Amino acid sequence: MPRKIIKERVPTPERPPEERNKDFNEVNLGYTLELAKKEAERCLQCKPAPCIQGCPVYIDIPAFIAKIIEEDIKGALEVIWRNNSLPAITGRVCPQEDQCEGVCTMGKIGDPINIGKLERFVADYARKHGIDEELLQEQIKGIQPNGKKVAVIGAGPAGLTCAAELAKMGYEVTIFEALHEPGGVTIYGIPEFRLPKEIVRRELENLRKLGVKIETDTLVGKTITFEELKQEYDAVFIGTGAGTPKFVKWEGINLNGIYSANEFLTRVNLMKAYQFPEYDTPIKVGKRVAVIGGGNTAMDAARSALRLGAEVWILYRRTKKEMTARIEEIHHAEEEGVKFMFLVSPKRFIGDEHGNLKAIELEKMKLGEPDETGRRRPVPTGETFIMEFDNAVIAIGQTPNKTFIQSVPDLLVDRWGRIVVDDKLMTSIPGVFAGGDAIRGEATVILAMGDGRKAAKSIHEYLSGNA
Ligand SMILES: Cc1cc2nc3c(=O)[nH]c(=O)nc-3n(C[C@H](O)[C@H](O)[C@H](O)COP(=O)(O)OP(=O)(O)OC[C@H]3O[C@@H](n4cnc5c(N)ncnc54)[C@H](O)[C@@H]3O)c2cc1C
Ligand code: SF4
Repeated sequence: MPRKIIKERVPTPERPPEERNKDFNEVNLGYTLELAKKEAERCLQCKPAPCIQGCPVYIDIPAFIAKIIEEDIKGALEVIWRNNSLPAITGRVCPQEDQCEGVCTMGKIGDPINIGKLERFVADYARKHGIDEELLQEQIKGIQPNGKKVAVIGAGPAGLTCAAELAKMGYEVTIFEALHEPGGVTIYGIPEFRLPKEIVRRELENLRKLGVKIETDTLVGKTITFEELKQEYDAVFIGTGAGTPKFVKWEGINLNGIYSANEFLTRVNLMKAYQFPEYDTPIKVGKRVAVIGGGNTAMDAARSALRLGAEVWILYRRTKKEMTARIEEIHHAEEEGVKFMFLVSPKRFIGDEHGNLKAIELEKMKLGEPDETGRRRPVPTGETFIMEFDNAVIAIGQTPNKTFIQSVPDLLVDRWGRIVVDDKLMTSIPGVFAGGDAIRGEATVILAMGDGRKAAKSIHEYLSGNA
């Protein structure tokens, strides 16, 4: 009998906007087993499956979906873990609409399969029922130590993935992380309401159980030198990310009340300033907040400021169509009451007699020819107006972290500060590899993880004499 095609995806329950915009708890509640099975049954089990090619780490998507239908969640997790060690994170934050779901066959006749939410379901269900622990113990038993040591710089998605893959191959791996907590952007940048930190910590705990050591509060290039690492380890992986905020030299940029998105989100997420004075890091947010930018970072800053009680405006120099933030996040921000103003750019920040921000002079823009990103370039019109604001959060992009790079003169970087690598992800220094935002500039979690996996394979080939 021909199978029945179900065009509409099974929705995931979400907390209502008027409730969730007052706290930092997770917005999307995810599938139950029953709902996940219903969504999994929509999958056509295509051969070959385009969704696998759409995934930057090539997860066997139809295979894990088939296991959900059989209620074999351990089997589903085993399939996912072959290619992705952090599925509870990627299931939540990947821009699936541009990846696996963007090329899913079902998308041509109806809604694509909700692959991200199914991946998240497997990871969450496994965690709740201790299934991940069971599978981990089986993997640990299979590890044969090979006596070689690898140092990983930076505990973001790139470094963590590289470390996990190497540990499974028997390497003794130590990660050096500048902050007091590992996770990179997933811990200090992406807010709780999108990615609960308890979930990130559990995925990190799994890596520790694989034998990966994590040395926090260690800024390589200052606390410890690169030369020391090179002498002590057989190979090095650099996953230092792109955590330096970009600024424009706008007049008044140093007024009180103006934050970089990086500072704003670090205070909120890593230091839990939204629970001040229970936590001792403060954050000052007035009645009206302007967030400058149109990416994920801008959306996260805006939605965080809203939860701190402010009226929030996203000020973006292009139109909604050119925004780089995930569609789901733009939609959530709109639902929660963030206001959007397009085709505007700050001209100067205006302060009061105490040096506090009180207004922003904005210039109207129009769209010109496409730039190197393929998006139409914003062109100033010369027409300006003034809007009152108590705070501004600058979220116009980030560049690779410099402290480490500048401490290694032999390391080749391009003019944007990105580390230059060959097709094996080896840098200009033999035995030293790099990946993630450090080589790409600001990109995505899954691309960073893909680099981590690829570099682990290259390191293994290099140290086995097969490079
Ligand atoms: C606010 C925000 C929201 C985002 N939302 C999404 C999203 O929804 N989906 C998505 O896919 N991507 C998103 N991204 C992008 C994504 O988070 C990054 O592409 C990804 O984290 C890059 O991983 P990474 O491991 O290369 O670097 P990072 O995550 O930046 O990790 C680098 C780590 O290296 C450490 N480090 C740096 N220098 C040193 C040193 N000298 N010594 C020791 N440690 C060092 C840093 O402290 C950090 O922990 C977002 C980014 C931001 C900022
Ligand atoms: S492309 Fe879509 S329908 Fe086909 S196997 Fe992948 S998820 Fe299932």
